[in-house]
Amino acid sequence: MKTEENKQGLFTMSSGEGAQPYNYAAGLYGSKFLTELRDKKQILGSRCPKCKTVYVPARQVCGPCFHEMTELVPVASEGKIMSYTILRFQFLDPETGEKKPVPYGYAMFKLDGADTHFQHFLEVPEDESQLFIGARVKAVFSEEKFNSLKMIKHFTLANPI
Ligand SMILES: [Zn+2]
Repeated sequence: MKTEENKQGLFTMSSGEGAQPYNYAAGLYGSKFLTELRDKKQILGSRCPKCKTVYVPARQVCGPCFHEMTELVPVASEGKIMSYTILRFQFLDPETGEKKPVPYGYAMFKLDGADTHFQHFLEVPEDESQLFIGARVKAVFSEEKFNSLKMIKHFTLANPI
């Protein structure tokens, strides 16, 4: 770690050249989820044959039942806000190394056809009173192809007033 002091006596600490490279296996279902998202802009879930819960993103095992799920089901790219926050403090985005423009939202959504919550960015409208728990939203997809959740740029209000 490297620490520097500026003329005002404020310290800046940096990790220097240190990096934490990693590889993360998305797994069979995670890979199918990402492929469908990239190639068809389709959000994929998996349904438990025992309790019928639809998980999004698709996963292989239902935690509560400990049952293997083999049925992959498409869910809607629309849903409703279950909880959200608005970020107003700018900090470095670890993905880009750039400061992400504020304000922006981060939310938990319940997509139509899914039983679990899906987290992603939420576009903040000029009139923030339009954001509320239960508000309808839709995914805004990237035109550029990514092998990640970056295929969804963010969610936006489906029916702005
Ligand atoms: Zn289950």
